[in-house]
Amino acid sequence: MIAISTNRTEYRNDIAEEIRLFLGMSEIVLLEEIDPASAEIVFYLTLVQEGLLYTAHAKANDLEQTETFELAENATALEKKKLEKRALKLACYHLLKRMYPDVATPWGSLTGIRPTKLFRELSQEGGEQSAREQFIDLFDVSEEKTDLAARICAVQEPFIRSVQSNQIDLYVGIPFCKTKCLYCSFPSEVLGKQDRLTRYLEALKRDIAAGAALVREKGLSVRSFYMGGGTPTVLSASQMDALLTFLREQYGSFGIEATVEAGRPDTIDREKLLVLKQHGIDRISINPQTMNDETLKRVGRSHTREDIVRVYDLAREIGFASINMDLIAGLPGETKDDVQRSCDAIAMLRPDNLTVHSLAIKRSSLLKKELDDHALSTAEQAEQMTRIGAVCAEQMGMNPYYMYRQKYMSGNLENVGYALPGKECVYNIDMMEETASILSHGAGTMTKRVFDGQNRIERLPSPKDVPTYLNKLDKLIEDKAQFFA
Ligand code: SF4
Repeated sequence: MIAISTNRTEYRNDIAEEIRLFLGMSEIVLLEEIDPASAEIVFYLTLVQEGLLYTAHAKANDLEQTETFELAENATALEKKKLEKRALKLACYHLLKRMYPDVATPWGSLTGIRPTKLFRELSQEGGEQSAREQFIDLFDVSEEKTDLAARICAVQEPFIRSVQSNQIDLYVGIPFCKTKCLYCSFPSEVLGKQDRLTRYLEALKRDIAAGAALVREKGLSVRSFYMGGGTPTVLSASQMDALLTFLREQYGSFGIEATVEAGRPDTIDREKLLVLKQHGIDRISINPQTMNDETLKRVGRSHTREDIVRVYDLAREIGFASINMDLIAGLPGETKDDVQRSCDAIAMLRPDNLTVHSLAIKRSSLLKKELDDHALSTAEQAEQMTRIGAVCAEQMGMNPYYMYRQKYMSGNLENVGYALPGKECVYNIDMMEETASILSHGAGTMTKRVFDGQNRIERLPSPKDVPTYLNKLDKLIEDKAQFFA
């Protein structure tokens, strides 16, 4: 157990995130909450203010680190809070770097999931060069990752500029899957009795109808549509047809882009793809994660490499404008050569988007429970694997266009979405950069309101699991109406 002792307990989570960069999933608590003798390490963090000067001091295992920052005279309360947090986090980070010099931290002290959002904010404040310098000199981000953030921000620029204040992105979640993947932490249900799904779809319709009425009442319009999961294609062709028909009746339009995550090839057939096409879905995901049959079996995906190729060819024949494929670098038991083979097989198919994930070991995943039974890659190997994915995307003519980080990723890396020019997914950019409001329907989804020009975002999560969603739907509908009031 790791303990923190600090005079600024309101920043305990921020300090804990820095510690997790180096010590993974360790339990981190405040020293006063435990018997001090039970702590393996205690991190002492203090923040002292003298006028406009803020001095953060970190100490552990006889090492000490001090960082001093000066607050601008006319700083707002938000800027003051940012500086305090930054001082404590950096003192902690530099101390940890000295304690564990071998831990890879390509994103330096940054712990949030959206480094590109920070890069854009810093560029807006002082220009791109200043953002680069702060990434490298202040936050200790590698030059390579700084370049990646800068490239992504440049690709995203026209998309972000095109968001209008009365637009929302529409999201629908289908939290059911055919089987559970070993690494999954999403609270999706393995599809059992149809009855459960039928009840969910009925509730979803009520949720959608209320959302569409809200959109009409507030004079909003749909910018893009995204159906994700789970695996939306666990729905039968007729269920999917009914849901999309209802959505189009209620909302009138899906905006400039409509995506359905087909996800697992074992849930896709010609009939379902035709239904999607007929309803104007122009972008789908067919996600192999790996093209190695042995790994697919090991991670609990009930399909083969051959299924992926067959379904992909079918989707191309039917004429979808944009097909995304997901790959995970660092799956249990995989080597660099396996990832290269997957990339070679994907390159033969020539998708429009490739998303390269780094394996993240989530607390609630089966993988976490069975950790001792699986061979996982080292940070260095994970980094080499994501590089193979990046090279594959670039060789197919794609550019990185969005990215995000998660906790507990191998090598403290990131997930990157690559796209052929003109095939970038608008929804992914809006959602990751938090530049457009999102109205979501379904369990385990997040409705988000972006307040134009106020640098303010509010979030309204829906219940994660299906039974709670079914029970609390009336309240959720009321909350959403309030939320957009
Ligand atoms: S398909 Fe996706 S949501 Fe479903 S179990 Fe696998 S990782 Fe989880």
